[in-house]
Amino acid sequence: MQQPTTPPPLVELRSLYKYHKTRDLQTAALNGINLHIRTGEFVAITGPSGSGKSTLLNVLGLIDEPSKGTYLFGGQDTGRLSHGGRSRLRKERMGFVFQSFNLIDELTAEENVELPLIYQKVAVRERRERVAAALAELEMNHRAGHYPRQLSGGQQQRIAIARAIVTRPAVILADEPTGNLDSENSRVVMEKLTDFHRTGSTIVMVTHSPEDAAYASRQVRLFDGMELIPES
Ligand code: ADP
Repeated sequence: MQQPTTPPPLVELRSLYKYHKTRDLQTAALNGINLHIRTGEFVAITGPSGSGKSTLLNVLGLIDEPSKGTYLFGGQDTGRLSHGGRSRLRKERMGFVFQSFNLIDELTAEENVELPLIYQKVAVRERRERVAAALAELEMNHRAGHYPRQLSGGQQQRIAIARAIVTRPAVILADEPTGNLDSENSRVVMEKLTDFHRTGSTIVMVTHSPEDAAYASRQVRLFDGMELIPES
């Protein structure tokens, strides 16, 4: 009889290193990281400036390649993927939220949210429905026709989150999502992310804010490119 098999973690890093080389210096930004993230977790990556948080998120988002070690996504070894395969995996299974929103100024809120679906060749009718649903989830449908410059920072970040979720990604990767927001807008953004977590989304968020980290279900603390294991 076959044993029931547990699904592999969504993300698994094994002895992962990332070196940044400048002309006369090599920095180990990640120094042998081992990390498992299961589907449905909300993980906050914290740690002082320079501890490797952004590098880790860039590696997880397939924006940056590790120097050494293994990165499995959904059980698949990302190190064996072609450039096109990495980019497909990134576009189809990952949603990104950045500190500086990164919306396209020339596109309306609605067009910004629609863009990833155009890349995925989703038919126009389904695109319209999914964009409207994503904007509604972020309570931003009343601003669908606005351009980013006509929106507050908090509203821009909500549009950026709508853009990240509209593809129904396996994981949302957020880099300091409240870094440019005041405390009220930060709270709104963190509550939205928490709502998505409650309904099953997997979220990995880099933050230096203890208040934001407290929303997560688990914290991974980095120090000098390594995970700091708290003494018990
Ligand atoms: P954090 O996000 O925690 O502030 P980073 O991941 O940005 O940390 O940086 C980790 C270390 O790697 C730092 O010492 C930083 O100076 C170095 N580093 C990051 N990016 C580069 C780069 N592109 N070139 C050279 N060194 C880098």
